[in-house]
Amino acid sequence: MRWEDISGQERAVSLLRGALAREHVHHAYLLAGPEGVGKELLARTFAQAANCEIEDPAARPCGRCPSCRGIERGNYPDVMVTMPQSELLARGLISRADLEGVPSREIRVDDVRALARRLSFAALRGRRKIALVTPADSLNERAQNTLLKTLEEPPPATTFLLVSANPDALLPTIRSRCARIQLGPVPEAMIAARLVRDGVPELEARERAARAQGSFSRALAAQGEWRELLEAVEGALSAPDEREAMDIADAHGERDAALEVAEAIDAWTRDLLVTQAGGTAELRELAASALDISGRLAPRALLGQAALCAEVIEALHQNGNGRLQLERLLLGTRELRRG
Ligand SMILES: [Zn+2]
Repeated sequence: MRWEDISGQERAVSLLRGALAREHVHHAYLLAGPEGVGKELLARTFAQAANCEIEDPAARPCGRCPSCRGIERGNYPDVMVTMPQSELLARGLISRADLEGVPSREIRVDDVRALARRLSFAALRGRRKIALVTPADSLNERAQNTLLKTLEEPPPATTFLLVSANPDALLPTIRSRCARIQLGPVPEAMIAARLVRDGVPELEARERAARAQGSFSRALAAQGEWRELLEAVEGALSAPDEREAMDIADAHGERDAALEVAEAIDAWTRDLLVTQAGGTAELRELAASALDISGRLAPRALLGQAALCAEVIEALHQNGNGRLQLERLLLGTRELRRG
């Protein structure tokens, strides 16, 4: 990864690059901004630039030296990543078998203590130890208070990078100890260009970029996966019993995964409504089934479905249980359609 590869965040890039170039690096940064705009990418690129082995500081990170590659692979001793168990699990960094009980959605005080212990040693290989905490708003209050002590007396040659889409959830004392770097939504044109590079036809890329609300991850998640997912959802909605619906809720029980499913169903519901009213579906690859399905459904059932989507998405944003909320959405929609 190179600084130049980070699209749409020029201000944030120039702040962090400038800090390294002037050797005036703050001991803690709060990288704040919506989901999917490149906060973690920025953090990892900073970690590489701070530890890249090539001579010319202006060309760091090179992306090729052992340090850059180690950081990219996630096995570099001086870059320590702290995240909740649920996130480690979702990224395949641990397996269910490694856990006792339900994976925690919080970063807990023991996690922060373990980090502080590792930070108390000198850098093993690099010039600067990096402690990436993501998402920082998953630190529970005790963990934040413990982290605060480390932030107040930071170990030498260490930079904390706190990543958060919801920085207001952090204690003001934590926020005030960090230099805040705000990332904005990525311009639509840049998201579209990225999709085109990935082989999406230009018109479709523009449409998807328009729906992505400035989020790369949202735009990318929409590719292909939605079609499969929504076909499975429609199958479960028309199945004779509830088993398939329960399977979908189980498979996407993590809150973020549940939110993605609910958002996909929400977009799909809008398409069904638009198609029923004689318009054209935005999810073009599903337009034929939208026409077919909306033709068979009562407008009242679809409006009920849209209202249910909104309620479930809201509940998930309020920390609702992923599996239960998806069950509510899928079983509720089955009821409405049987109305
Ligand atoms: Zn390098």
